[in-house]
Amino acid sequence: MDDKEMLFNSGILTEEREGAILPPEELWKNKKGGLVVVECPQRIPCNPCATSCPTGAIRPFSDINDTPSVDHSKCTGCTLCVASCPGLACFVIDLTFSDDLALYKLPYEMLPLPVKGEKVLCLDREGKCIAEGTVENITQPRKDRTYVIHVSAPKNLVREFRAIRVVK
Ligand code: SF4
Ligand code: SF4
Repeated sequence: MDDKEMLFNSGILTEEREGAILPPEELWKNKKGGLVVVECPQRIPCNPCATSCPTGAIRPFSDINDTPSVDHSKCTGCTLCVASCPGLACFVIDLTFSDDLALYKLPYEMLPLPVKGEKVLCLDREGKCIAEGTVENITQPRKDRTYVIHVSAPKNLVREFRAIRVVK
């Protein structure tokens, strides 16, 4: 199975596509608040990521089926796109959190919500547990929309960590 087949048959992004959607490293490593990572490579009629972005970092679509295009230099890490994306395909990752840990701001639509300080399982795109993280904050940037859970976890997971499992 080639990369394209893998992507569209399984819905899981493969390694080769990840590099194309991560922020540029030179911008990312010093960016307090973090930068958006968008993982939405398929043309579908959907645009809340772009319409919710207050800075134009996710460029306005010319067609509802466009795939997101990101100008990371305009991203503030506000997480409005994370809370607005129905596909749970937007994430914000802050590499300045500490020497060893990054802060991962991830969409979460399950109940119960975790609480600050709680340990949660860090999952990759296939739902496989890859580490343990600590909940640092829970926000709801858009009323009645998806919660955003801020989790500190090892920096070396930036290409893998995309969801959490609450274990209580
Ligand atoms: S995090 Fe905020 S500024 Fe960055 S792309 Fe998302 S909505 Fe735009
Ligand atoms: S809102 Fe989410 S699913 Fe819709 S186009 Fe944007 S990134 Fe893709």
